Amino acid sequence: MEKCRYSARCGGCNSIGTEYRDTLTSKNAYMKKLLGQFCRVEPIIGAEKPYFYRNKVNANFGRTKNGNILAGTYESNSHRIVDVEKCFLNNERADAIIRTIASLMKSFKYEPYNEDTGRGMVRHVLVRTAHATGEVMVTLVLGTNVFPSKNNFIRALLKECPYITTIVMNVNNRRTSMILGDREQTIYGRGYIVDELCGCRFKISPKSFYQVNSEQTEILYNIAMEYADIKGHEKIIDAYSGIGTIGIVAASMGAGEVIGIELNEDAVRDALINIKYNDCKKIKYIQGDATDFIFKEAKKNSSYDIVFMDPPRSGSTNKFIDSVAKLAPSKVVYISCNPETLARDVKYFAHKGYKMIKCQPVDMFPWTEKVETVCLLSKLHEAKHHVSVKLDMDEMDLTSAESKATY
Ligand code: SAH
Repeated sequence: MEKCRYSARCGGCNSIGTEYRDTLTSKNAYMKKLLGQFCRVEPIIGAEKPYFYRNKVNANFGRTKNGNILAGTYESNSHRIVDVEKCFLNNERADAIIRTIASLMKSFKYEPYNEDTGRGMVRHVLVRTAHATGEVMVTLVLGTNVFPSKNNFIRALLKECPYITTIVMNVNNRRTSMILGDREQTIYGRGYIVDELCGCRFKISPKSFYQVNSEQTEILYNIAMEYADIKGHEKIIDAYSGIGTIGIVAASMGAGEVIGIELNEDAVRDALINIKYNDCKKIKYIQGDATDFIFKEAKKNSSYDIVFMDPPRSGSTNKFIDSVAKLAPSKVVYISCNPETLARDVKYFAHKGYKMIKCQPVDMFPWTEKVETVCLLSKLHEAKHHVSVKLDMDEMDLTSAESKATY
């Protein structure tokens, strides 16, 4: 059992120092309470390696009175830095890079950016590591355009951390809580990393979303594919598709046709390259709002067999769910990083004739309160849906051939 001396101030996790299995027990109880009313909730799949799993690590910087550089997270609700030397959640190479940058900042006399005054140079450092390939990307987020002694700094950083494969400079001089700014320049390597998941290869750019725990993501995606049960002819939507991971894995399993929809332009650009990397046919990715897209598809009377949806923490929208119901896929595979919004959306889906029939939580974020879940929602036959709402699904209704066919 690892004890962390920063946890009280840092707030990045909430149960480090306790027994891992106890954290899973309380997550099971929470999930059962929240989602047990809809269907049986499987016990959460714990992580084989619950430490050092985060493949994406962000650090902020500060300075002590005697000029030492602090690197770590902000104390909650403040701009005070917790100087975290070792985090039990973070990839260890990522933490080593951040410590190295902090010590180089002192010798290169680089000022940490001050969120209160808006002055200073180094605002954040974002490190992303590719689990399968070992590639490492460092994004230096600067509060100014000026990067004095850039080449010497890069040389010194690579000398200490030769495993870094690419370095990107990002300029964010706006007063915002967003980490990354709009301007980006690759200053070493190719400007992105490539990782492998479920036998497919993926390009990941600094601004694209990528699941933070790669080992658990493979488990999650495998369950999503098992729920989708792709036979080979299906027309599929991959909504909130990020860099195209789910749709591309589905295509590699023989899906007939895949259309992905994602808001973030960089992620869509990555997805288009990932289609080529994986030699996928009959698959496309579109940039836009998932609700708008589904709404338009429903208006066109398109038809789809499976909808994968993997929205951000805020969940999806009723309009999205209304439109999915109009498209009438036989299955919706819902991947969620927030059980509260998942419960809200599943309830709304139930009004629209979709019943959650499988629910598998996965511990993607050990030692935190967060739970990732994959669910299968199945379209109830009109007649049965009608009866099930009225009669609470008694046995008689399940004897009809049509009702049997839906399960
Ligand atoms: N399915 C991907 C990404 C999931 S994260 C994966 O497994 O890696 C959620 C994604 O939804 C992010 O990429 C985010 O940019 C995207 N997103 C957020 N709001 C959106 C919206 N309104 N419409 C479409 N995509 C959105």
